[in-house]
Amino acid sequence: MSPARPSAWNTLAPRDVELGPGNAPKVFTHWRLTRGPDDIAWLLLDRANESTNTLSEPVLAELEKVLFDIEGMGAKGLVIRSAKKGGFIAGADIRDFKGVTDAREVERRIRRAHEIVDRLAVLRMPTVAVIHGYCLGGGLELALACKYRIALSNAKLGFPEIMLGLHPGLGGTFRLTALIDPVQAMTMMLTGKTAHAKRAKALGLVDAVIEERHVENAVRAAVAGEMKTNRGSLKSGVLGLSPARRFAARRMRTEAEKRAPSRYYPAPYRLIDLWQEHGGNVKAMQGAEITSFSELLVGETAQNLIRVFFLREKLKDSAKGESGIRNVHVVGAGTMGGDIAAWCAARGLRVTLADLDRNAVAKAVGRAAEFYDKKLHSSIERRDALDRLIPDFEGAGVTKADLVIEAVVEKADVKRKVFDAIAPKMKKDAILATNTSSIPLEELREGLAFPDRLVGLHFFNPVAKMELVEVIAHDQANKAMLDRAHAFCGAIDRLPAAVKSAPGFLVNRALTPYLAEAFVMLDEGTPKETIDRAAEDFGMPMGPIELADRVGLDIGLEVVRMLKDTLDDPIPEIPGWLEKKVESGETGRKAGKGLYEYDDKGKPKKRSDAPAPGPEMADRLLLPMLNTCLRCLGEGIVEDEDTLDGAIIFATGFAPFRGGPMHYARSRGGADILATLKRLEQQYGPRFTPDKGWEDFSGET
Ligand code: NAD
Repeated sequence: MSPARPSAWNTLAPRDVELGPGNAPKVFTHWRLTRGPDDIAWLLLDRANESTNTLSEPVLAELEKVLFDIEGMGAKGLVIRSAKKGGFIAGADIRDFKGVTDAREVERRIRRAHEIVDRLAVLRMPTVAVIHGYCLGGGLELALACKYRIALSNAKLGFPEIMLGLHPGLGGTFRLTALIDPVQAMTMMLTGKTAHAKRAKALGLVDAVIEERHVENAVRAAVAGEMKTNRGSLKSGVLGLSPARRFAARRMRTEAEKRAPSRYYPAPYRLIDLWQEHGGNVKAMQGAEITSFSELLVGETAQNLIRVFFLREKLKDSAKGESGIRNVHVVGAGTMGGDIAAWCAARGLRVTLADLDRNAVAKAVGRAAEFYDKKLHSSIERRDALDRLIPDFEGAGVTKADLVIEAVVEKADVKRKVFDAIAPKMKKDAILATNTSSIPLEELREGLAFPDRLVGLHFFNPVAKMELVEVIAHDQANKAMLDRAHAFCGAIDRLPAAVKSAPGFLVNRALTPYLAEAFVMLDEGTPKETIDRAAEDFGMPMGPIELADRVGLDIGLEVVRMLKDTLDDPIPEIPGWLEKKVESGETGRKAGKGLYEYDDKGKPKKRSDAPAPGPEMADRLLLPMLNTCLRCLGEGIVEDEDTLDGAIIFATGFAPFRGGPMHYARSRGGADILATLKRLEQQYGPRFTPDKGWEDFSGET
């Protein structure tokens, strides 16, 4: 809090966050209330014992008391602001949402919360939310209950509820659609996309965008009624009519269906119904919002997506700490090495990129430039990222690197040769990492002078989209190196999952029987589109045939060979045609042709008339995967079910609304899985033999 300062100092002092008059604040547990000589009250949220402001029941209950005080204060106006440097309010406290099952009880609690926010909305004085950093979900709903919103230029506003299988539930649906163009409002809520300050101003979501030093003046202007606002739009008028809303809603449903099919993701459709039926009628929409939100919250989709939120948090927690890594050297500039290098440079690291083939490096840098053009915000950021990504034809970067990542072809002898060449040049405390998909580290460390500094950093394809990195340990790995490898993942905004070295590690070992079963189906004459549909209908982002092409049939083939040679897992025979395809260079999407043919945008050309999948097809694909997951847990390759579920979801996009493979197995019940596997075993043979673990696998989650 800023103390009362002489006025010249006030003008000259650099301001982190203007928090109003610092005189004798009335301190509650989470809120601080002060009043300045100009009779404006400043209410600051500083949630106790938390680094970020979120709205919990105690925070709102206390707000009610504070509002009571404010009503009696006779102030000219009220400012609401966050005392946390990081942002305004990041949303509701999601911990409160976990495991709730009684929709009526939720409804009662949400109704109470609405009463409190409504009390803010009807305060008889100008109310101003001053917003910096994140202002999301419940935080934005609180801001919407104020008469004015002033944003700092770093503000990001949005409703991410849809990602948790919910829609706004604290007044957002009716306040946002009443404030701005309702179609834009619905798009914001349906996509969950955040709007930066400038965009928020253009939408009419905030009234002004200012710099910190102007906060006091802007607040005074708002309280005095001198702030110009840009509210209401022509469209709000037209969409007040129900036929117009019906028409717009139909289009929204079609769009939503492409992103989130209604059969698994109810929230977008509940939100659209809500608006179509009650748009413009505040009271009715509020009542319907409360009921709909409460029902969604106790539903399976929202609870599973909330689980995924916490799985991500758990993996993030394991990425804390200092990695000491500033310089990275990547050997192998193919699909993976090139993209890993580009990603690390975008995240602020200095990266040297080497390959035997100069062309590969040039292509990788070209791909990086395209990626930066699309994903980085300013030309300065793009230029800096490209400056940090250094083509290194001589491999000179190795001597300066804190981390060397090997991403050459999936052959143990080639990888060992690369190690032989680079290891003697590495710094004494530098980490040597391999991006191998499947080769156990015990095999790669042979002949290495410092096996303790070898770790696996197994990224997934495409690197920019798949958040997971398997951090692979072996029995000679140094714990400090592994900790640094985890922290490195955190520093580049990826999620590390600790995995023990074994053929295929966790994710590829689990995926292999899934892909192999798809190949068996192909050999049985099932069209590839039908096989992919079976998995997509289950909720996978793409089917196994498209996935095999995406990974690269050459890479996939090496992985299956390795697993067949080294494990007892009953993996089906490798089809002869797969080997032929690889030999002839039809290696998948990267070659423009694999199991599918690809257009020049990299989209597979699919038949639209393929028959629908049969009822058993999804089980044939998925149960061998679940069987292998259970085996990996039994073998201690991954520590627990949560890490396993997180790893598979963030590496493959496994149907997130199912909460992960083990969670799905628990929801379905061990007995059902055991019985289905036994039936499939009888019909198709030992590749479906159930793991012993299913016998005492309970259905509790
Ligand atoms: P790729 O064939 O696209 O690229 C390999 C690159 O390594 C080529 O550019 C090649 O010229 C280069 N290379 C070969 N020998 C070299 C040497 N001795 N020195 C320097 N460069 C050399 O392969 P990729 O798909 O990028 O796979 C690389 C590694 O990443 C493999 O170990 C693979 O298993 C693993 N991986 C692949 C995927 C995937 O989906 N493709 C996912 C995760 C991990």
